[in-house]
Amino acid sequence: MTSIHPRVFSGVQPTGNLHLGNYLGAIKRFVEMQKIHDCIYCVVDLHAITFWQDPHELKRNTREVTAAFLAAGIDAGKHIVFNQSQVPQHAELAWVLNCVARLGWLNRMTQFKEKAGKNREAASVGLYVYPNLMAADILVYRATHVPVGEDQKQHLELARDIAQKFNVDFTESIREAGYQNGFFPLPEPLISGPATRVMSLKDGSKKMSKSDPSDLSRINLTDDADLIAKKIRKARTDPEPLPAEVSGLRSRPEAANLVGIYAALMDTSSEAVLKDFGSRQFSVFKQALVDLAVARLAPLAEEMKRLLADPAHVEAILAKGSVRAEAIAAPVYEEVKKILGFVRR
Ligand code: ATP
Ligand code: MG
Repeated sequence: MTSIHPRVFSGVQPTGNLHLGNYLGAIKRFVEMQKIHDCIYCVVDLHAITFWQDPHELKRNTREVTAAFLAAGIDAGKHIVFNQSQVPQHAELAWVLNCVARLGWLNRMTQFKEKAGKNREAASVGLYVYPNLMAADILVYRATHVPVGEDQKQHLELARDIAQKFNVDFTESIREAGYQNGFFPLPEPLISGPATRVMSLKDGSKKMSKSDPSDLSRINLTDDADLIAKKIRKARTDPEPLPAEVSGLRSRPEAANLVGIYAALMDTSSEAVLKDFGSRQFSVFKQALVDLAVARLAPLAEEMKRLLADPAHVEAILAKGSVRAEAIAAPVYEEVKKILGFVRR
């Protein structure tokens, strides 16, 4: 327990409309991490309720994210798949971290500003402290690596600052508890590949998002072949043919986005894609992208559908995963209580 074991943690919110950005920026990369590390993948329902959720929908969406994890190839037997609210130590550690993080740090978080919008006074308090809960999600497993999309970089940096401040604030007590090099590892964000920030199909300056009111802005993991084709054909582009070099994508966000999506689906780089499609018209490239997206996503959607037909089976996986997650989180949180000086049973 005193030495730090390399461990991956990441999560996805059960807020509906799982999309291609979630798949390429997060879930697909979760699958790749399984080969090298012990992984914990969480359906973060406590994060979802920072905005009001219909209780029936929340349950359905929780199963849907779980199904997406499994359909994409996450091995819930070897690794851990669970939903956050079944492991109470997330919320408990989050309270402690609320008392470690500084107000000034949270005031800099751009996601809060974007999501709260103009009417900040009406945002939930939970939305404001969301990054502290995210830090707790990671630190309660003393996780070392966190695969996420680019939009989560700032929250990961905050998690590192919080871990560092905890280690410094309680240096002596941490040493007394037997830890020579601090208690929490500083978690490393893993943000790489050609699709760390998949953009909206309608607006190359906005990220593809579950919460975008326009369904045409994203490809949902449950979309059928016709819908995928329609959305890609309607995706915004510019009138120029594709450039021959990546440097030619610089001021062309919509083109860069479609090339990045193609590269990620193909497990290659944007450079390689432009070798094949440079100087070609969008009509040609879009047709190839439709074919590739359908080939990759249709089996995923099919498997999700199959899994979702048996809700009890999916929930049983979450229950089992929660027990295993808690077996790691509970002793870590006990150590935190010891370090803080809480009187314990
Ligand atoms: P919301 O808009 O409700 O925040 P979301 O689409 O951002 O939803 P999350 O559940 O917040 O989805 O994020 C899950 C994971 O997907 C995170 O690792 C996040 O960085 C990643 N992700 C989200 N959107 C994108 C995107 N457009 N491109 C790449 N990765 C993304
Ligand atoms: Mg998000």
